[in-house]
Amino acid sequence: MNKRWRRLLATVCWYVLILVAFVPLFATATEPVPDKVIVLTFDDSVASHYTVARPLLKRYGFGATFFITEGFSFRTNKKDYMTWEQIAELHRDGFEIGNHTRDHLGINIHNTVRLKEQLDAINDRCREHGIPTPVTFAWPGNAFHTNALPVLQTAGIRFARRGGEPEVPYQKGGGVAYEPGADHPLLIPTAGDARPNWTLENLKQATAMARNGRIAVLQFHGVPDHEHPWVNTPKERFEEYMAWLHAEGYKVIALRDVARYTDPRFTPANPLQAIQRRLQAQASNTSSNAQAKQP
Ligand SMILES: [Zn+2]
Repeated sequence: MNKRWRRLLATVCWYVLILVAFVPLFATATEPVPDKVIVLTFDDSVASHYTVARPLLKRYGFGATFFITEGFSFRTNKKDYMTWEQIAELHRDGFEIGNHTRDHLGINIHNTVRLKEQLDAINDRCREHGIPTPVTFAWPGNAFHTNALPVLQTAGIRFARRGGEPEVPYQKGGGVAYEPGADHPLLIPTAGDARPNWTLENLKQATAMARNGRIAVLQFHGVPDHEHPWVNTPKERFEEYMAWLHAEGYKVIALRDVARYTDPRFTPANPLQAIQRRLQAQASNTSSNAQAKQP
């Protein structure tokens, strides 16, 4: 072997060594999603998250994400909203603190320019209270717009939860299962959106979707919620739901924990692809049902 070839071989060997050493640092191994995985989320910094939800979740060893906003009467009404000290305690307990914007800003095409400042304000408060910068987000009022996706990504948000719409109308309090890898990680759908008239049957419907590689994301507001009665869950109902999840052996996790099953850096080229596919499937089901009914 002459000198030139030896040098070339040495160079190739170096490249191979570098690849072997560094590739594992960037590649994230993910696990298949087992059945019965539930993501539990609580919106709007409601006082009962601390007084009612916290002790129950700790008793059952459940994970959960609390999406924090300083909107509504958060700053003045400490009867109905948590203090930052209580929020920090949730973090120290091991629960996840997620971002829900400073003012509970419903995102639309006109106001995405305000989103960064809204996220930063909550991030600043987290830092002041020893809480890590949130990596998850819940769209306030469940209103989303694809223009906001780059803003969330730049702010370090890895996963974001929307509502059950447009697949299921808001009034129904239902939704669809999250399909990791198919749904955009910043447009994760709610499977069940708890309402005052919900019963254990509604919870069962939502959680039944947690199978075949799909995860059911549950959305709660206050348990109870005095300021927003249309999304209130009575304390007794909430206790019943959590006891049932525990008895049925569900694995209850925070939104950040879905990173175990999917890599948020891989996003579909069309962020709305999964939503459009479900809507098309619904439309073709409706038309074939209508045809079947024809005499
Ligand atoms: Zn909210």
